Amino acid sequence: MAKREKYQSTIRCLKCGAICTATYSENENPVFGNGVEKKIESVSHGFRIELERIICGNCNLPIQ
Ligand SMILES: [Zn+2]
Repeated sequence: MAKREKYQSTIRCLKCGAICTATYSENENPVFGNGVEKKIESVSHGFRIELERIICGNCNLPIQ
């Protein structure tokens, strides 16, 4: 069984200072070797996920 872990991280938009709480999940993926697959599960209000990046809703810029 692959291990699946969830954790939260706080990221700040450097432009407007808004703070985003993002929930990530990490999956150990034995099929592709030793890699760990990291996925953004959800972000707090005012932000959105686009192409696996967090976009600040105020600035429309990726913040990571
Ligand atoms: Zn911003």
